[in-house]
Amino acid sequence: MTDVRTDDRTAFRTCPLCEAGCGLEITVGRDDDGRERVQRIRGDMDDVFSHGFICPKGSTLKQLHDDPDRLRAPMIKRDGEHVEVSWDEAWAEIAARLPDLIERHGRQSLAAYIGNPTAHSLSAMTFSRALLTGLGTRVRFSASTVDQMPRHVAAGHVFGSPVAIPVPDLDRTDHLVILGANPYASNGSVCTAPDFPGRIEAIQERGGKVVVVDPRRSRTAEQADQWVSIRPGTDALLLAAIAHVLLAEGLADVGDHVREHIAGLDRLGAALDAFAPEAVAASTGVDADTIRSMARELAAAPTAAVYGRIGTTTTEFGSTASWLVDVVNTLSGNLDRPGGSMFATPVAGGATTRGRRGSGKGFRVGRGQSRVSGHPEVMGEYPVNCLAEEITTPGDGQVRGLVTLAGNPVLSTPNSDQLADALDDLEFMVSIDMYLNETTRHADVILPVPSQLQRAHYDVLLLQFAVRNVANYSPPVLPLGDGEIDEWEVIARLSLIAQGMGADADPALVDDLAIDGLIGSAVKDENSNVYGRDADELRSALDASGRRGPDRMVDFMLRTGPFGDGFGADPDGTSLDDLLENPHGRDFGALVPRLPEILRTPSGVVELAPDVFLDDLDRLAAAIPELDDRSLVLVGRRHLRSNNSWMHNINVLVKGAPRCTLQVHPDDAVALGLAHGGAARVTSRVGHVVAPVEVTDSIRPGVVSLPHGWGHDLPGARMRIAAEHAGVNSNVLSDDRSMDPLSGTSVLNGIPVDLEPA
Ligand code: SF4
Repeated sequence: MTDVRTDDRTAFRTCPLCEAGCGLEITVGRDDDGRERVQRIRGDMDDVFSHGFICPKGSTLKQLHDDPDRLRAPMIKRDGEHVEVSWDEAWAEIAARLPDLIERHGRQSLAAYIGNPTAHSLSAMTFSRALLTGLGTRVRFSASTVDQMPRHVAAGHVFGSPVAIPVPDLDRTDHLVILGANPYASNGSVCTAPDFPGRIEAIQERGGKVVVVDPRRSRTAEQADQWVSIRPGTDALLLAAIAHVLLAEGLADVGDHVREHIAGLDRLGAALDAFAPEAVAASTGVDADTIRSMARELAAAPTAAVYGRIGTTTTEFGSTASWLVDVVNTLSGNLDRPGGSMFATPVAGGATTRGRRGSGKGFRVGRGQSRVSGHPEVMGEYPVNCLAEEITTPGDGQVRGLVTLAGNPVLSTPNSDQLADALDDLEFMVSIDMYLNETTRHADVILPVPSQLQRAHYDVLLLQFAVRNVANYSPPVLPLGDGEIDEWEVIARLSLIAQGMGADADPALVDDLAIDGLIGSAVKDENSNVYGRDADELRSALDASGRRGPDRMVDFMLRTGPFGDGFGADPDGTSLDDLLENPHGRDFGALVPRLPEILRTPSGVVELAPDVFLDDLDRLAAAIPELDDRSLVLVGRRHLRSNNSWMHNINVLVKGAPRCTLQVHPDDAVALGLAHGGAARVTSRVGHVVAPVEVTDSIRPGVVSLPHGWGHDLPGARMRIAAEHAGVNSNVLSDDRSMDPLSGTSVLNGIPVDLEPA
């Protein structure tokens, strides 16, 4: 039992584990040796956004911090084994090998992979750009192309900025349609909303309706007023048909506020002609009457919002499905209005609150092509399913070195076995990570970072997609241990070594350059509250606080943000000092309409029907016969106690009945001779796994489901609890040749598979 003593102190911090960003109340005491220890973690009742909500993962920050498998010292691989070394040895090893590799093969022989936890780390968010600049490579990959990249592509083409992503105004909507998301397990994504389940139930309590479109009757679908069971990979067809009905039945009305800021409406009717409900009913598995009533309800509701997530993005038509979410929200009159689909006004660091407003350069892709397969660049990176071929295919520019930051692509990306083999071909690999995991076991050097409780936190990225405009800063709860180095310093020094500045390079150089860059941009930005000010004066004002690193940057971002003090311009404005005085966060109110100022399209209007998507509708229509024919497909699923691949080493999160099961509908089980509790061999074009069978009628016939992030039985990793609950890796089955061509995002939902008893 937790021992809470009178001399304990209480700290408040935002949970950095997922996008919900819940406020935590953390009790810290001392052990018999006088060291500070976390005693208890619970929801912060006074947090302005989460109001005490917490999920089972949030309280495990203590176990994460105390995990004996968490790396506390760097590791170097010697004779095939990872051994702990001093920081000096680690830096010297990198300084001896990384610049040499670059010298021999060129900078484009070096690849970088940025993992999902980067988005949840203030240090990594503020310094990863410096790392990529220091590495100097254009061969960049990230978890975005196994996740949300299609959402960025849609926003980029329609609104001109890839981060101008509207979110459902959960707290005011009357009608919510959720596609391919299970917020009861994930708490929402690209929609920051602590207690997403509570917000769903509040819609119902105020008389609204919630519809869930999913091949699985997920926990969210069970709570919904209506579950629409759809065939995987066909969300774009369903959305196209809904848009078709809105137009064909004269139900489309974008509303006065939007009408004067929109182009392309007149092109949609003809473009969607092929998608009448009857035309897509067989492919989607949703009958035409249901589709029509979904469209009519969206049009009739006082306010409504359609929200699509990973089940819609990780498909062959992920970008077009994401665009169609925006199309339906717009046609039903719900774009940019309270209760509809709205844009956040980020308090700090928001790309949509900087620079010229109302128009801009727009969004471009294809500023480069991947070397082997010629896939176009999107947002400065290539599809991660190209990483293995870039390593194994000889020729000029062949990838010979790799740097990973907080990523585990061996479990997270398609055709995992192929990638694992490819990593063994590298000449040199450096990983920044908390664990010796299935990917970092391939690294020559692993640089550890402190635990989440030892880092400051501000959600620079995810509050850009929040359902309220809030700000919450958390100082570190616990100090760094002996020999531990702050994450930003690790990243910054690696960047400098890659530039040939030697093992002793000072991370402060990167920090100073980064803050000077931020200040320099702001004083030249006519819309900034420090436009025309003296950069040196601002730098001095910042430095007077004694802050450095991410804290100094986030202070600057807050002060120059839309609610900032502008270094004296608005005495009531916010700053890091202000947030420190408000440990439960500050609430700047509900979302407000942002059209047209949020737009960054060259035309200065919402481009609702860009050619790229109208052209893709032809590909979508042509795919209908093939989608009709698919007999058995695999989808993923998420569990409340999982966080992708990296939290399975925490006993309280993995104990109990095995969760990595293959869900099969009873009809399929009978037809295939599978028994509940037995084992099935699942085979795709690229691999096979043997998984325990869970027969359940919560999944539609013709669909089977495996959760992702498992498969912890690979030799050389050191996550002992995870290894005891290994499960199987669903990405052994996902196909590296199958992707959404507009975004380079892998198909992780709707993978054709064969099944047989094992
Ligand atoms: S939902 Fe859970 S993991 Fe996510 S921020 Fe809240 S407590 Fe943390």
